[in-house]
Amino acid sequence: MTQIFDNPADFADEALDGFVAANRGYVARVDGGVVRSTEVPAGQVALVVGGGSGHYPAFAGLVGPGLAAGSACGNMFASPAAGQVYRVAKAASAGGGVLLSYGNYAGDVLHFGQAQLRLNAEGIETRTVLVTDDIASAPLDQIEKRRGIAGDLTVFKIAGAAAEAGLDLDGVERLAIRTNYRTRSLGVAFDGCTLPGADAPLFTVPEGHMSLGLGIHGEPGISDHPMPTASELAELLVSRLLADKPHDAGSRVVAIVNGLGTVKYDELFLLFGKIEKLLIAAGLTVVEPECGELVTSLDMSGLSLTLLWLDEELEHYWAAPADTPAFRKGSLAPRPRRELAGPEAAETADVERPTPAAAELGRQAAAVLRQVRDVVVEHEDELGKLDAIAGDGDHGIGMRRGVEAAVTAAEQTAANDGGASPASVLTAAGEAWSERAGGTSGALWGSAIIAAGLALGNRVSYSGEDAADAVTAFAEAITELGKADRGDKTMVDALLPFRDAFCTALGGGASAGDALAAAAAAARAAADATADLRPLKGRARPLAEKSLGHPDPGAVSFALIAAQISAHTEGRLANPELAKQGAQA
Ligand code: ADP
Ligand code: MG
Repeated sequence: MTQIFDNPADFADEALDGFVAANRGYVARVDGGVVRSTEVPAGQVALVVGGGSGHYPAFAGLVGPGLAAGSACGNMFASPAAGQVYRVAKAASAGGGVLLSYGNYAGDVLHFGQAQLRLNAEGIETRTVLVTDDIASAPLDQIEKRRGIAGDLTVFKIAGAAAEAGLDLDGVERLAIRTNYRTRSLGVAFDGCTLPGADAPLFTVPEGHMSLGLGIHGEPGISDHPMPTASELAELLVSRLLADKPHDAGSRVVAIVNGLGTVKYDELFLLFGKIEKLLIAAGLTVVEPECGELVTSLDMSGLSLTLLWLDEELEHYWAAPADTPAFRKGSLAPRPRRELAGPEAAETADVERPTPAAAELGRQAAAVLRQVRDVVVEHEDELGKLDAIAGDGDHGIGMRRGVEAAVTAAEQTAANDGGASPASVLTAAGEAWSERAGGTSGALWGSAIIAAGLALGNRVSYSGEDAADAVTAFAEAITELGKADRGDKTMVDALLPFRDAFCTALGGGASAGDALAAAAAAARAAADATADLRPLKGRARPLAEKSLGHPDPGAVSFALIAAQISAHTEGRLANPELAKQGAQA
């Protein structure tokens, strides 16, 4: 049980505040997580890690010289929102680019991915290396589908050491990819874990049994086994990992026995002793191992074994010094404290002066979002029912939550003294949308709105071409982040025909209003046609047959929104005078 808290909803935030209070020599709190409180040499690559809270010392405990530059910290077991990742990365960045690294989970991929798009759009070069070490989560030939568990540590450690050594972003990324490729883990659980305030564990393991291959959030394992002896457990873990080794494995390995929360250190050591003997018997040399709590899962009773097959270069960086609250190795010269700009400083530094045209468009953007909200609210139930056929039924409520938050944020921003550009209005709206909506579609809509806003920027005047650029940026954000193709049965099937029709009509000399009408009609037809498709992406994929004959919910909501915007802005977009009246209405 997790017992120490005032209000369970504040647990993650208050625990992080206390962690920072106890480690001020290492970390400073920023909006969304923590960054180093010590100076980072200019031009150094910033390794930014993160994920849900509840895994200490992952992730905030690994911030310090020789390891991460910052950590984005989500709620308990929940991905940090894209805006959190973005702000932590921005505060951590030291001019050498950013490497985002985190475990491969759908929510994290969407939110970190959205942050990456935004950082790159702002000129902070950002790359991503996902950790995929859990051999229980997918077969070896689908290694990219595996989730990340304690292998986080090997990837972060080597990437962090490479950044510390002054390698450039290419170099750090290359080593992180290689480390991930050569890292394997397998975990077992003897009992579940309980979220703060919950009265039952997230999952349970049958009495007298052990669950093999269970994820760190209670994702189902491969199989349940009668509780083995320590020797049997060591044999099981070692043999499974050795059977999965990389094709060019050498004979030197890092071994990590990781406690998941409530297994005593003596037990971990006992098991480690047996594991080391088995590795030596298999002809391997164990190099600088770790045994302790490194990536936990609240109060889960369980542990994992990780092996990293070294080569000369990886061994050099594994052995390099690091100095963080939870992970220390060798010695590093003390670093001077650095001055972090407070939140107030950031606000005054960034005051925007929108051009009159941009401020007008910013107000119109807020008005368009109100139209989007109205149509989503009107169709909320229908969208939920459609999503319940083969998905999880939350598309209506998720879209409503997202768009309501987006409207509030857009209105607040547009009400600034002197107004705000579409870049500011839509960035605020997109962030609020993805933070509030949850779910896949929320992250995609949020990113797309931010991308469209950044494309519109803060200009002296706007033309039809700018509208085409914004629509193109909107579509690109969704395809880049969601990686769905035409025909996968997602919102992309309505989105791409919309974009194509819009750009073609504009190119052919149509007014923006006419182009929008043509595009909305194309989206409607394409959304209807998704009824004939089987879903190949997203939550509906496992229930593909059920979905046949019904259109994709995300494609339908997109088409409804396109029609609404077209119906309500038609004349205004074509005529700037009308546009002003529309914005005031
Ligand atoms: P969740 O699937 O997380 O419950 P929603 O129910 O809000 O999120 O949204 C479901 C919709 O999201 C799907 O109908 C589909 O249109 C869209 N979607 C899911 N995955 C993708 C993807 N990879 N790319 C584009 N759209 C996607
Ligand atoms: Mg859903």
